Amino acid sequence: MSSHEHEASATECADFLEQIVFLIDNELGATDVAAVKLHLQSCTPCLETYDQQRIVKAVVARSCAEVAPGELRSKIMVQIQALRTES
Ligand SMILES: [Zn+2]
Repeated sequence: MSSHEHEASATECADFLEQIVFLIDNELGATDVAAVKLHLQSCTPCLETYDQQRIVKAVVARSCAEVAPGELRSKIMVQIQALRTES
């Protein structure tokens, strides 16, 4: 296991995960975008989630959707809730 130099708590990450969803949807202001990107640089799990969600969104957009975007977002929100509950 690697050592933790940057102390990002699970709660902090849960907040950022929510922001990541908005970032992918282009619903964040410039200040928030900067804050999220800064966090992504120091937090590998969040960066992986960001990449995953971007891919998921791209696939959904391309394949014209078995899953509606709204439905996809609520699934992500459920994941975030689960993460919050664990901590
Ligand atoms: Zn994080």
